[in-house]
Parts: sequence; structure tokens; C-alpha cells
Amino acid sequence: MFNVMPIPAFNDNYIWALTVPGGNEVAVIDPGDANVVNRYLKENNLQLTTILITHHHQDHTGGVMQLCQQHPVKVYGPDNSPFEGITDKLTDGDKVELLGLTLNIKEVPGHTLDHISYYLAGPDPQLFCGDTLFLAGCGRLFEGSAEQMHRAMEYFRRLPDTTQIYCTHEYSLANLTFAAAVEPTNTHITEAIEHCTRLRESGQPTLPTDIATEKQINPFLRYSEAPVRQSAELFAGGPLTSEVAIFAMIREWKNQF
Ligand SMILES: [Zn+2]
Repeated sequence: MFNVMPIPAFNDNYIWALTVPGGNEVAVIDPGDANVVNRYLKENNLQLTTILITHHHQDHTGGVMQLCQQHPVKVYGPDNSPFEGITDKLTDGDKVELLGLTLNIKEVPGHTLDHISYYLAGPDPQLFCGDTLFLAGCGRLFEGSAEQMHRAMEYFRRLPDTTQIYCTHEYSLANLTFAAAVEPTNTHITEAIEHCTRLRESGQPTLPTDIATEKQINPFLRYSEAPVRQSAELFAGGPLTSEVAIFAMIREWKNQF
């Protein structure tokens, strides 16, 4: 597995830095800001060799050009991305060899049409999912459809329960407030709010989360659970006849929340 460290950027972004034990090479995911990455490299005496991009948004790609000028790096990212700084283009089912480990590429459009995720299989699975799955939340549908994002959620639900999830924003407490509105009697959500509040009060990230936890607390993974369906139907004012319709209604409710 990778050693994964957060490099905080902007208000609430995390640029994840990946190393393996004994190595001084590092990969970063979605470096929106080159300066915080350069400071991290210097402080930890690391050499940047690889950038992984999940999607084209500026807060995920804004530092790439500067980092490329300053370091000899490969830039992996989606084949269909409007972002022009990608040197090694990826599509569904591709694999990336990184620091001796293999990442599996999955296309997960919805937030944007070019969104991909990176998954490390094995005894300690790790998922780098950008702005798709968040702790107790999911990304906004800027370019894709609810059907597409629902398909991405189906993929995430099938990953091993122990999978560590590294998403790109510290949105957890706001997401949990919404999750509690959807499921007021879900005690896992109440406990997650207490846990995340303690972490934020001590200045720590609430991430990573894991698939087992998300199946218990995340309304965007729980579209097949009766309490979530009932709340979504109450919000919709009528019956919802498919999991996609439930998912789409929860997403719409969150937009207005
Ligand atoms: Zn984004």
C-alpha cells in the first residue's frame, strides 16, 4: 500500500502525496496549487516524479504546468479531458504502474465527463476518487447525469469494505449534517458527526474514510435502504420507482439544502 499524506490547499482541498517505505520519490494527486506541493517536497526531501489527475477542474490541475517546468514528471489523467497538460492518457480498465504498485483506472463520469478514479487492489485497498465519492457525500453533477453518477456509486459499493477512500475535499461535516436530515434516526451518522467534529477541532483531516463506513452513513450510497427511499419520496412528494430516481432526488435535495 501507499503511504498517503495530505497537503492542504486553498480552503478545503487535499492534494494527496503518495510514497512507499524507503523511497524518496513521490506522486501527487490533483495538484491545484504548485507552491504548497513544492514546500512539501522541500520539507520532506522528496522528489516529485508523477502527477495523477482525476478531472479537469482548476482546483485539481492549476499547479500542473508549474510543477512540470520545475520537475521531470509524468502527468497521468483522463483521455477525454479538456485539460491539456496530460502526458499519459488513461481510459477505463487501464493500469498505472506507480512506485512498484499497480493502480486500476475506472471512468466515473457525473461530476465532470472526464472524471476517473484510481484504485489499488490487494490486502490494503486504497481509492483515490477526486470529487465523486466524499465522506457522507458525493460530487455535484456539473457535466454528467444522475445515471452516470449512480453507476459510479455502484462501482464504489462493490469495492472491499476495508478500502480506504481519499477524496479531494474536506466537506465531511456539512455532508453529515445533510445525511442526518435524510436519516434522523441513523446512529452511525450521529457517531460520525461526533468523530469528525473532534478531528476538526484538533486540526486534523476527517479523511480517509472507508467503504464500510460509507455504506452506513452516506445517503448517496444508501439509495437501496428503506429510510433513504422514504425520505427521498417525502422530498419528491410522490413515489420513486428506481434506485437511480432515488439517487437523483437525494442529489437534488442536497443541492437545495
Ligand atoms: Zn471538481
